[in-house]
Amino acid sequence: MSGVLVLAEARRGELRAISLELIGAALALSEQGAGPVSVAIIGDDGEVHAQLLGPAGVQDVLVVPAPQPHFEAHVTQAAVEALIERRRPAVVLAGHTIDSLGFAPAVAARLRLGFASNVTGADWGEDGLLARRGAYGEKLIAELDFPDKETVLLLLRPGAFAPVEGAPAASAERVELDLEGRARTEHREMRDPPAGDVDITKSDFLLSIGRGVEDEEQIAELEQLAERMGATLSASRPLVDAGLISAERQVGQSGRTVTPKVYLALGISGAVQHLAGMSKAQTIIAVNSDPEAPIFSVAQYGAVADLFEVAAELERQFG
Ligand code: FAD
Repeated sequence: MSGVLVLAEARRGELRAISLELIGAALALSEQGAGPVSVAIIGDDGEVHAQLLGPAGVQDVLVVPAPQPHFEAHVTQAAVEALIERRRPAVVLAGHTIDSLGFAPAVAARLRLGFASNVTGADWGEDGLLARRGAYGEKLIAELDFPDKETVLLLLRPGAFAPVEGAPAASAERVELDLEGRARTEHREMRDPPAGDVDITKSDFLLSIGRGVEDEEQIAELEQLAERMGATLSASRPLVDAGLISAERQVGQSGRTVTPKVYLALGISGAVQHLAGMSKAQTIIAVNSDPEAPIFSVAQYGAVADLFEVAAELERQFG
């Protein structure tokens, strides 16, 4: 058993960002000795996506046509099982996404693979694969090994691994599998979430507020400040739970994982569940009146200060 098989994901004709993160993680494992990287894309438009799935280091791209245009969990399960049995990889990487959760646990159970979901770190060493994920409500980071497992399937948390730049595949091999009649569900329609809300995962600059901010008036002022600074407002969970800010703006384990260039945290303590969603930001700046606040352990820049004084100074600078 050798090599890493990446299961790329597409939806509505677009390659999903997680695919390039999976390839980034696979190339890192390959460099550590896990073997060559292959990327598989299952679907009726795989050839189009192969144009982005072959960055340097990827050995081959496998395009598996599917009998229906939209993702179907049982079809994908059958295809992935067939690919694993043919290729016998040591590691299979998929996203910790709604699609993968529909088939990956079933594949792991049927083929008796090692398995871990919501993985935030992975390394290949002398004893094989080591994966990291949160445990006890993300209060601990658990290290998992997979003794006696020849193949391990990991679901990687979106945003936790650095993506590679997409590039055309040198060779894309069409793999015909008998997938007719496998579908057990019927795709009816795609429904978009209500328009008008923000997507904080797309912002390069997040101004994020926590329980240090207490009411709607303060939030409105900080939202204006964010706009003036070219930032998007995001928040920790207590503000969402209190109904002060919409759930789309929540950063963290039960919110969004974000990787902006700049994350400015005002009045956020830095609980593990919050850090799980933002610790991979390029630059973290924390303002907190408590010098012991854990957010300072991940921040490159920090000020032990009252957030409203800092906000007032920023108003003056950007006003
Ligand atoms: P607090 O921990 O209360 O911190 C407020 C901070 O503001 C303090 O550090 C304080 O010193 C500082 N402060 C107060 N006033 C000022 C001031 N005037 N100026 C400067 N600093 C000030 N949390 C999330 O954020 N996202 C999640 O997705 C998430 N998921 C969770 C999932 C589970 C299963 C569980 C159990 C918890 C989850 N939580 C999540 C909650 C998490 O444990 C923390 O309770 C939460 O992150 C704390 O938010 P906070 O930092 O805003 O509030």
